[in-house]
Amino acid sequence: MKPAAPIPVQSAKTHCSERFFSTHPSRADNFTESVIREMTRLSLQYNAVNLAQGFPDFPCPTELKIAACDAVRDDFNQYAITWGEKGLREAVAGKVEKYNNMIFHPETEITVTCGSTEAMMASMLAVIRPGDEVVVPEPFYENYGPDTYISGAVPRFVPLADDFSINEEAWKSAFCRKTRAVILNTPNNPTGKVFSKKELAFVAELCIDNDVIAITDEIYEHILYDGNLHISVGSLDGMQDRTITIGSFSKTYSVTGWRVGYALADCVITERIRKIHDFLTVGAPAPLQHACITALMLPDSYYQNLAGEYDRKRKILFEGLKKAGFRCQLPEGAYYIFTDISEFGMTDTDFARFLIEKIGVAAVPGSSFYHHGGQSRLRFTFSKKDDTLHEACQRLEKLNHV
Ligand code: GLN
Repeated sequence: MKPAAPIPVQSAKTHCSERFFSTHPSRADNFTESVIREMTRLSLQYNAVNLAQGFPDFPCPTELKIAACDAVRDDFNQYAITWGEKGLREAVAGKVEKYNNMIFHPETEITVTCGSTEAMMASMLAVIRPGDEVVVPEPFYENYGPDTYISGAVPRFVPLADDFSINEEAWKSAFCRKTRAVILNTPNNPTGKVFSKKELAFVAELCIDNDVIAITDEIYEHILYDGNLHISVGSLDGMQDRTITIGSFSKTYSVTGWRVGYALADCVITERIRKIHDFLTVGAPAPLQHACITALMLPDSYYQNLAGEYDRKRKILFEGLKKAGFRCQLPEGAYYIFTDISEFGMTDTDFARFLIEKIGVAAVPGSSFYHHGGQSRLRFTFSKKDDTLHEACQRLEKLNHV
């Protein structure tokens, strides 16, 4: 996270509000706007190839476009039930039983949200008392930092090992009397790590022993390579009633703009999540919730094809980055490559700017994924058309001549 930028002074009126803000601090002062989203704006400004923000530049499945248009035409244009359209909750319950090996009751344990972003925020607000500590493995997806501050939690950042696995000693010493929750993200953004059953069982045991809730973001659950398997933390022994599992349609079905996700939790936790969700957003877009039912009816071949496509894209970008001089590894899951830029002799933010302005490729500075550190890293996404990736790789080759 970068330090908060000063509030711009434009007129006598804003000067007055600036004085107000300086004497009335708020939670918003603890964090800045998203660097990921900022990179997209800069990329547009300089006409760069945007490998910064993780969203596809190719279309979603045709079946989903038709389902969304049909839902609008069939008049599903008013609020759905606040915690989600019944048919969608039932379809999610079916999918979760089959794919994640977990049972959640659609009437009391599933909340449809405006993307996983809202699911995470509503979950944190539902379980955190201001001052509680939340363990956040570092590097972490940018949103988790602000999420902890907004919910009044004190984040306890715990570094992952050099190979991004769970560092057991660091985790053990992070837990204390005040620890209320841990945030897990597997497959992981930005590292591409897929946590093993052994690693997750270790975290589960810590959660059970310390009476801590696990909030797990599993939105890349279908984007896996080289035979890696997705394990849901909530499916592990003793974790069913102390895990909030967050999922989304954004990444699996290439509909990041639809903003449909969900939170799965035991009925007692769900009751609280639903209250928070209701007053935050009332509900996710009703016609798109209907279309998401169609998404969940796609055949198994859809998921095999998705992983296969991303496997090919991962290799295109990996080869291009290597050729351009980046040190990196093939990710095990998700759609990012988290590179080491030490060879280039620039900090992450300077290098990211240089890449956008002079090379024509946008990436995300590593420091956005750390509380402190990450200056020797840049994250690139390969959730793009092959042509887009080839164009980016060609532009990156210029690095060999500067
Ligand atoms: N998860 C995506 C990323 O890390 C997009 C984040 C967003 O902007 N909502 O880039």
